[in-house]
Amino acid sequence: MNPIEQILIDFPVLILDGAMATELENYGCNLNDRLWSAKIVMENPEMIKKVHLDYFEAGADCAITASYQATIQGFRERGLTEEDAIGLIGKSVQIAVEARDEFWAGVEDKTSRPKPLVAASVGPYGAFLSDGSEYRGNYSLTEEELVAFHQDRIQVLVEAGADILACETLPCLIEAKAIVKVLKGFPDVYAWFSFSAKDGRHISDGERMSSCAEWLNKEEQAAAIGINCSAPDFIESLIQEIKSRTSKPVIVYPNSGEAYDAVSKTWQEESLPNHFASSTKSWYGAGARLIGGCCRTTPDDISAIAAWGRKRSQQ
Ligand SMILES: [Zn+2]
Repeated sequence: MNPIEQILIDFPVLILDGAMATELENYGCNLNDRLWSAKIVMENPEMIKKVHLDYFEAGADCAITASYQATIQGFRERGLTEEDAIGLIGKSVQIAVEARDEFWAGVEDKTSRPKPLVAASVGPYGAFLSDGSEYRGNYSLTEEELVAFHQDRIQVLVEAGADILACETLPCLIEAKAIVKVLKGFPDVYAWFSFSAKDGRHISDGERMSSCAEWLNKEEQAAAIGINCSAPDFIESLIQEIKSRTSKPVIVYPNSGEAYDAVSKTWQEESLPNHFASSTKSWYGAGARLIGGCCRTTPDDISAIAAWGRKRSQQ
């Protein structure tokens, strides 16, 4: 059965985790590499497990694996064999499953929250390019080329035991269509489709969010539709865009609200107080059912969601 639907029968909101990279940096990891957190899967898997555990403790009902930038092509360019590359991608799932099982074994009241899911991150083609094109969508690749890009990694992630696929930061509908094509080969597998947005109505390449929701609405394997890695200010109107074309669950996990400066490659600390926690509640009010954080969010942001989200689930 669709694992998201299963949880949303019993709980009003499915709480996602927050940024993996930000936490790894807080623990002193150097992610200055085009493989980003996938580099830590290779060098320090225990650290990845620790971050997953931190998020479960904070209240996350779902861990997103550190495979966003892990691709067979990317690891091969770093000099790994294809076999080692496949092993590392599978390992990102196994680490999260291990953390989840360990955490769940220690939860006394197993009715107070759902058993957390492990969502295997399927980063977009732009994340492999590592040139920011996941926020533009100007790939100049055909749908068939995108199918070829996604095929092998999805197979590895599924076989490693992920509960669901997190197809995220997608900048263009053609990439979602390519992934849907790949999924037809795995008919029991469900995925969420989450886009990066340029404003309150459009995804990164300029397509209307509502058109993406309409196209995905007919796809049985699409378990949720939404937005991640985008500014919090756009979220409420994007939720309306999605809800106008589908009754599938809406997923939102935007960035913290700090602005990324692409020139200096640094985050500009927000000068205003952080409204992320209160915003999450208003997104629930607007109709989102899966809520978490992307870049620069922390376990504190996730526990702030749990503070209101859990209370509701006990009503
Ligand atoms: Zn992000």
